[in-house]
Amino acid sequence: MKSEMMKKLEQVAFGRTKPFCYGCYRQAPTGVCLSCGSDDLMRELPGVGVEYGLNWVIEHILREELTPVDLDTEFESSMEGCYADETQIGFIKVNTLWAIQKLDPTAWDMAKQEWIDSEEQEDRILSFDNGSTYYKVEDLESLE
Ligand SMILES: [Zn+2]
Repeated sequence: MKSEMMKKLEQVAFGRTKPFCYGCYRQAPTGVCLSCGSDDLMRELPGVGVEYGLNWVIEHILREELTPVDLDTEFESSMEGCYADETQIGFIKVNTLWAIQKLDPTAWDMAKQEWIDSEEQEDRILSFDNGSTYYKVEDLESLE
């Protein structure tokens, strides 16, 4: 899934950029600079910049056009409905999810990590930076 999606992002980045000769500071749409004959070309993303390769373009697209998954919020809403909203502890009533987080933050974090792993295994979310940032697969698929 991840390598397929990287391929797709590379295609998107490639399609949005043009070959660019930095020495002559002009586009080279044919892949060879018409001024100097060089084929050692950068990629220009109009209005953004010029640089070698496509990774910077991909990073730009992810940063500007997608919203990373808010894992805390999404996990919490996935837990809603699994338990009663309120739990009686002695003579007080508390919000159940709040109580779990407060009473056993470690268990909460482990459950959250398991949820993240299963979301990733089922191809609903995807990370390109070893789990620092996740994107929704449907958001990635909608890029063009
Ligand atoms: Zn040139």
